This record gives sequence, C-alpha cells and structure tokens, in this order.
Amino acid sequence: MSSCNVRSADEDIWTRQIFLTQLCSQEPSKSGTAAAVSIAKQQPWQLSVGSDGIRVMMESALTARDRVGVQDFVLLENHTSEVAFIENLRKRFKENLIYTYIGSVLVSMNPYKDLEIYTKQHMERYRGVNFYEVSPHIYAVADNAYRSMRTERRDQCILISGESGAGKTEASKKVLQYYAVTCPASDHVQTVKDRLLQSNPVLEAFGNAKTLRNDNSSRFGKYMDIQFDFKGAPVGGHIINYLLEKSRVVHQSHGERNFHIFYQLIEGGEDDLLRRLGLEKNAQQYQYLVKIVRKALSVIGFTDDEVEELLNIIASVLHLGNVQYGGEDSGSSYITTDTQIKYLARLLGVDGTVLKEALTHKKIIAKGEELMSPLNQEQAASARDALSKAIYGRTFTWLVNKINDSLAFKDDSFNSKNASVIGLLDIYGFEVFQNNSFEQFCINYCNEKLQQLFIELTLKSEQEEYEAEGITWEPVQYFNNKIICDLVEEKFKGIISILDEECLRPGDASDITFLEKLEDTVGGHAHFVTHKLADGKTRKVMGREEFRLSHYAGEVNYNVNGFLDKNNDLLFRNLKEAATQFKNSLAKLMEILMSKEPSYVRCIKPNDAKQAGRFDEVLIRHQVKYLGLMENLRVRRAGFAYRRRYENFLQRYKSLCPDTWPNWNGRLVDGVSSLVKHLGYKPEEYKLGRTKIFIRFPKTLFATEDALEVR
Ligand code: ADP
Ligand code: MG
Repeated sequence: MSSCNVRSADEDIWTRQIFLTQLCSQEPSKSGTAAAVSIAKQQPWQLSVGSDGIRVMMESALTARDRVGVQDFVLLENHTSEVAFIENLRKRFKENLIYTYIGSVLVSMNPYKDLEIYTKQHMERYRGVNFYEVSPHIYAVADNAYRSMRTERRDQCILISGESGAGKTEASKKVLQYYAVTCPASDHVQTVKDRLLQSNPVLEAFGNAKTLRNDNSSRFGKYMDIQFDFKGAPVGGHIINYLLEKSRVVHQSHGERNFHIFYQLIEGGEDDLLRRLGLEKNAQQYQYLVKIVRKALSVIGFTDDEVEELLNIIASVLHLGNVQYGGEDSGSSYITTDTQIKYLARLLGVDGTVLKEALTHKKIIAKGEELMSPLNQEQAASARDALSKAIYGRTFTWLVNKINDSLAFKDDSFNSKNASVIGLLDIYGFEVFQNNSFEQFCINYCNEKLQQLFIELTLKSEQEEYEAEGITWEPVQYFNNKIICDLVEEKFKGIISILDEECLRPGDASDITFLEKLEDTVGGHAHFVTHKLADGKTRKVMGREEFRLSHYAGEVNYNVNGFLDKNNDLLFRNLKEAATQFKNSLAKLMEILMSKEPSYVRCIKPNDAKQAGRFDEVLIRHQVKYLGLMENLRVRRAGFAYRRRYENFLQRYKSLCPDTWPNWNGRLVDGVSSLVKHLGYKPEEYKLGRTKIFIRFPKTLFATEDALEVR
C-alpha cells in the first residue's frame, strides 16, 4: 500500500478519472499493477493494491465537486440559479481554476497572476485531445477549432468577449501562441508565425493605453484571420480593426494615459533620434520597449525609412498637441508657438506658412469659390485636435495595412482560396458606464449583433446535431434580440438611419433635434424610452438629453451629447453614400463570422483593483448578466445537458455492468443500451442517437459517475 495526499485540482480529477478508466480496462496482472503503482506514485493520489486488483482511493466525486465545482455549468443541478452559477465560479477561482465551460463556450476568469498552465507541456497535453477529456482550457478551444478546420474543412472563428481588463487580448495571444508552437512548420511558415506574433506588440504600442481598468487596454476592436494551407501550417494572415479610440490622442481621463507609443518614443528613443524629431527625453523607463517595437516592426518587414517616417508622424502629433493659440480683438486666432510649427513643417514635409494658415482657418465654398475664413481661438484649438486625431487614426490604418501586406501569402503556387481560416475576434463586451455616449452605443450594438449570431448559430448547431443523430428536435424558447438590432439598424426608421439623416441635414440639426426625431420615429418601440411619457408628462428618472435602450443584456441610458459630431467623424470618408461606416463594417464582420463555425470565449474580470485572488461578487454578477451567460446556459440546457460518443461512454462506464465488462463485442449502441438499462436510466432521461448518447439531466450522469467511484 502506498499513499500520498490528494491534490485539489480539477486537473487531477480528470487525470485520475482517465487513469481509473485505464485501470478498469486492465486485468490486475503483476506488471499491470507495477505500472499502475508507478504512474500513481508520480501523482499525489492514494492508492491501494490488494489481491482483488487495484483501487485508487480518492475523495468521493461528490466531495471533489463540492470543492472545485463543476467544470461545465451545464452540469449544475440548478442551472437557472444565478447564485449557483456565481458559487461555481467562486469555488473554481479559489482553486486557480480559471476556465469553465458552458457546453462548448469557454468562460475565463482573469487570475491577475501568472499561472503555470501555459507551458509547452500544457500545449502538448491539449493537442489532438477530445474537448471533454481534459480540463477546460483556452488551448482546448484553440485545438478544437484547429481540428474541426482540418477534419471538416470548415473555416472557424473564435469570438472573445468581455469587458475591459477581463483578459480578451491575453486569451487571443494564447491562441496565437498555441498555433505558433503546435502547428507544423517550415522555413517560410516560421516567418509567418514570427510576423503573426510580432504584429501584437506593434498594434499594442499604437492601439493600447493605460486606463483605470487595464494597464494595457486595447483601444480598438480587432479581427484577425489566420490562414492555413492544406497541411495545416499557418501561411498568412489578415487583420481588420474597428473603432480606434482616436479621442485619446488629445484627451485622457484623470489617471489614464495616451497610447503607449508616445511614452515609448519620448522615454526610450535614442538621443539623436529625438533630436531629429525635435523631442526631449523624459525618463529611461521605456528604453527597452521602444526597442521591442522597432524590432517587431523590422520582423514584420518595415524598412528603416518606414520606421523613421512612422516616428516622424508620432512626433508631429506630439508637436501638434503643443501648438498654442492667441486671440485677436477681431475674434480671429493666431499661433503663439513658432518652434512647434517649425518642427511640424519639417516632419510633415509641408510649408510652414501654409500649415499656419491651415491651423487657423477653414475652407468654405461661397458662390462656387473657395475662401479661407478665420477661426476663433476655440475653433482653432478644436481644429488642431481634429487634425491630430485624424493623423493618428490614418497612421493606425496605414500600419494595419502594412502589417496585412506583410502577412499576405505571396507564393503563386498557393491559392489562398484553398486556404482554411481561423478567425480571432477580440472586441469590447457590453459597456455600461455612469455616462454612456456614442462609443458605448456602437460597442453595445456590436454586442447585440454578436448575441444574435450566437443565438442563431448555437440553436442551429444544436438542431443540426439532433438531426444528424436522428433525434427529434424540440424547439427551444429563447429571447430573440433581432427586434433590438432592427431598432438600431433598420433602413429609414432605425436609430442609425435617423442619425445619418440628421448629420447630413443642413441647417439647425443638433444632438437634441436628433433625439426629437428619435422620439417621433421610434418613440413607441418596446425597447426604446426617453423622458417623454405618452401622455405628454415627463419621466423624472431620465435626463432630457438621454434615450434608453433595453438591450438583451439589460437597460442602458445614452446621452446624445456629441452623437452628431462623432458620427460625422465616422461618416467623413464616404459622405455621399450617407451610410454609416460602422454599421457597414459590422455587417461585413457578421457576414465573415456567419460563414464560419464559431467557438466562444467569455472573459470575466474578478475585481477592479487588478488584484490576484479577489472575487468581487457584485462586479462578477454584473458581467455574468451582460455577457448573457445565464441565457447561454439556458439555451444549452434546453435540450440535453450532456452527450457523448458511444465508444467513449462505454469505455468509461463499462465496468458498471456485467454485460459490458470487461469488453463489449457487439454494436456500440446495443452495449450502451444494456449498460444504461442496467443502471436504471428511465426512458425520459436519455436518448440514443446514431453515434452518441444524449442525457437530459446532470444528476443522471452524476449518479453514474458516483457508481464508478464507490466500486
Ligand atoms: P482585455 O483585453 O480584456 O481588456 P487583457 O487581456 O489586456 O484584457 O488583460 C488585462 C491584464 O490582465 C493583462 O495585462 C494581464 O496582466 C492580466 N491577465 C489577463 N489574462 C490573464 C491570464 N490568463 N493569466 C494571467 N494574467 C492575465
Ligand atoms: Mg484588450
């Protein structure tokens, strides 16, 4: 007899269960016993070897479940209880088990500390292994998507959502690293892998910033395609970016910072570089970082000249920020900071006088003629800010395009049409602040669309699986949020149409006239409310500049202040079409995603203090709600909680029935049928499909698991 302590990790329970299954399928021969003992000795389990065989003494499954919770929410006894849901998260979080499934959806809690679960050995453990046979992990999702792509030849996408600081970007990096390490490689592929990986630090330098919520917050949404050839090697990629928060260039809230690149440049740029750019050094702290970015840029294929050009532009944005104005009595403005203009003119390669005029005047067209009309001090300052934002925004777009060029597969022998694709979407989750503006409106609309996609695809895949298995499909009741999507995007009478119309209407259009138009057009909609009540009275809890949308995840009040300006900013490129760019790019994204098989990762932030080990229940409950997790679970549980292929089910439980032990030689379905009859399953508790058994309630499965434990 040898005994050791039992480790309380999910991981162990799974390994033990698999081990147990292996033991059960062996006759207790001497060598078998010796092998088992040596395996078990490496693991902290209790083991007893008797004349009748080997028994692994472990905590009963129930005690273990009590401590570490269930690793699939589908197995919760009371699946409609939010309290039970949160408790399960809490238990697992306490044990550093940050991953839990809802069916095939991965829920991920940010541990705010480095866990030893991302090593190469971990990657190997998940490689080619069935989703349910290892404990939940982001690698399992990555591997599953990869295998489905390879075996079913179907494009995949991994949709990662969650609020700022929840761990989306880290998750997407983990997926990328997983592919970089585990996928087949050749010389060329190595270059692609390097470029894919190096695109991250570059985009983070230019698109991320320190915010109150996250020290490395992505201020843009990102969709990245990774293309694989027929051998399953990554051969190319493509990135689409959404809604860069350009306003950060000119304004940051208290305690927040501008995009990383500015600090990296000023604090880490070499002396003569800074001299050329007309900048002064601050501290040394970022020495290292700017080097990383420059190295990354060179891996991606930027020439030295291009890097210099890029830094020129970044420096010119900094100089622009220092341009100051004075006011004439006449009301017009003039520039008081000539040094800045001198640097700007040189860095941007324009004439100083022209630049000065551009920064203090606007172009108007009167009677068919172009005239320069002077701006007052305030207008000039806001024109300067608009220019900074536009320059930064376009630079970012240019950068993404350059990265895409470098990731594009250029070998003629490879036809990109034959490539299989895994897409990675890292985009903000639902945002609800004290004051919600146009940005939250766009982000929440995006999430509304993603939810619609989720519902459609989940129900569709459930339905397809039932059909494939020859099991009658029972329609699931669920809330279809299409009605809210329509309210936002419908042609002519949706909120976006009305906003576009107000933006293009000459004359007295303002944020308030926009709100009034909304009241006239969609005032009666069940998901739309303003301060005005139907009887002409006012709703006191609502501000006069607000409208409220009842999103699928909850109610959000939006303040219309700035809606027109911000929408104009998105519109400016193709004003003639009067069609909102964001809506279109979102429609395109939905099309891309619709054509792929999705996997979902829902990230949760455990506390606002960026601290390890702190489980802030209020904050977490809020996210569970806004991520729609209870609804996810309800849809997933509407049919059968659990399903498993016959061979796996038999392999696992065959020791529980004399007919199937030690081996079953007949048809698999008959073996499973005898087994569950022997176990006393009632007809309403399960169904037998073509290749899988479907079990309706978790308790049935648990009883079977327990039977296995007490043998
Ligand atoms: P998001 O993209 O959702 O805003 P990030 O992915 O940037 O959030 O994560 C914020 C921070 O949380 C990271 O910088 C890191 O410190 C920590 N973090 C996130 N995920 C993990 C993880 N799996 N393990 C350890 N730390 C993590
Ligand atoms: Mg991020």
